[in-house]
Amino acid sequence: MPEPDASVAALLELDRRHVWHPYGPMPGRQEPLVVSSASGVRLTLADGSGELVDGMSSWWSAIHGYNHPVLNEAARDQLGRMSHVMFGGLTHEPAVRLAKLLVDMSPDGLEHVFLADSGSVSVEVAVKMCLQYWRSLGRPEKRRLLTWRGGYHGDTWHPMSVCDPEGGMHDLWSGVLPRQVFADAPPGPYEEEYADRLRELIGRHAHELAAVIVEPVVQGAGGMRFHSPAYLRVLREACDAHDVLLVFDEIATGFGRTGALFAAEHAAVSPDVMCVGKALTGGYLTMAATLCSSRVAEGISRGEVPVLAHGPTFMGNPLAAAVACASVELLLGQDWRAEVKRIESGLREGLAEAAALPGVRDVRVLGAIGVVQLDHDVDMAAATRAAAREGVWLRPFRDLVYTMPPYVTGDADVARITRAVCAAAKEG
Ligand code: PMP
Repeated sequence: MPEPDASVAALLELDRRHVWHPYGPMPGRQEPLVVSSASGVRLTLADGSGELVDGMSSWWSAIHGYNHPVLNEAARDQLGRMSHVMFGGLTHEPAVRLAKLLVDMSPDGLEHVFLADSGSVSVEVAVKMCLQYWRSLGRPEKRRLLTWRGGYHGDTWHPMSVCDPEGGMHDLWSGVLPRQVFADAPPGPYEEEYADRLRELIGRHAHELAAVIVEPVVQGAGGMRFHSPAYLRVLREACDAHDVLLVFDEIATGFGRTGALFAAEHAAVSPDVMCVGKALTGGYLTMAATLCSSRVAEGISRGEVPVLAHGPTFMGNPLAAAVACASVELLLGQDWRAEVKRIESGLREGLAEAAALPGVRDVRVLGAIGVVQLDHDVDMAAATRAAAREGVWLRPFRDLVYTMPPYVTGDADVARITRAVCAAAKEG
């Protein structure tokens, strides 16, 4: 390890003094690594210690890797035209093209697109759509949400209210957040008895429910749990039977991550509202979207207040929209299914040995997602260091060491990532 460069040490000192990090204290007690650039699947560290293969896709987003010539070109081209313009009363080609691409690729029946500026905001908008739909139909009492324990939907107000109530992420706000209805997290395999309980709970609360909101097939930041897609059909049927809207949060699972373009496809189910984000711009810029059916849009339009009262300053940002179009076209223009399958095989093979490690409770792989669950909370710093020694960037949390690499990760780098996951699981 070379001596840390003085400018890197100075940067870290300023970082500690002034910069909030996700879920971080202020003043900072975290020791982030300084990244100077990123290209392909590699992050270059500013301290001269070398490169790390990114096992995280910058939290599910950088599916094509970093510094991609096609995405760079799309950004440069759009910069030369217009990096931003207000969306109220104006529109532009990148936003319209993106909306059309999203409608065409999404599960059937989703026709209208709200371009939000982060995943959490797209969930807020989804909730607003559902509550406003029932209000417009003269049923304002239908304003609660039903969700699964073990979920995660973001850090703003309504999303926090449907995060896992026992997950510890938002304990501070219990009693202050809107009170929602929680069903147990779905078991991995399909169990009719659990499905019956889910149906019963939806039926019992239907009079006050605006919507059911879940992460389909993979519950991500709340625990990296996978479940049978058959539960999505149970939700769809129960929501239809009891006049409740169904929202799928595909922010993490969208754009191919689970081996289907959207996780809903595993069950051939369409929600009434769907949130996407993260990989939408290939991880380049902050943009998310909320899609809804004509039933929802027309319902809202029939109300006393016939508009969806939401319009952030950076809504439909042309730069983000142009890059999102390029990212989606890049994805659809290649055999992404084969790439995700290839990564899935590499993760299965490489993580098989983790199952035999002491302290490992479970190993699971789905699409380009690999998870090792321990029987104890991981020592995050030790696990991150162990992965970095293998040349890989991982961000373990709670009892989980996990990876979701960019789809362009080559076989040798997938193997390197799985070695790093095993090392982090051993040493964390
Ligand atoms: N929903 C899910 C399923 C997520 O994984 C996330 C981000 N981890 C969010 C919502 C919130 O998205 P953002 O961080 O962009 O606000």
